[in-house]
Amino acid sequence: MAKALHCPICKKLVPVDSPDVPFCSDRCRVIDLGKWASGDYKISSPILDPDLLEDLEHAEQQRHPVDEGKFWKN
Ligand SMILES: [Zn+2]
Repeated sequence: MAKALHCPICKKLVPVDSPDVPFCSDRCRVIDLGKWASGDYKISSPILDPDLLEDLEHAEQQRHPVDEGKFWKN
C-alpha cells in the first residue's frame, strides 16, 4: 500500500513513489528552490562601490595642494 506526503508548497497529497517527492510537481519544486535562493542572496548591508571611493579620494587630494604648499614653505 503506497503512502502519501503533503506537498510543502501547495499541501496537495503526493504519492511517495512520485518522481517529484516531496513536491507534487516540478513546479512546486522550483517554487521551493526559489524561496531558498532568494533567502541566500538577500543583501542586508550596502556594498560600497570602489570606483566611487576612488573618486572621493581624488576630490580630496585636489582640494589640498595649495594648503600643503603653504605648509611646506613655513
Ligand atoms: Zn505542490
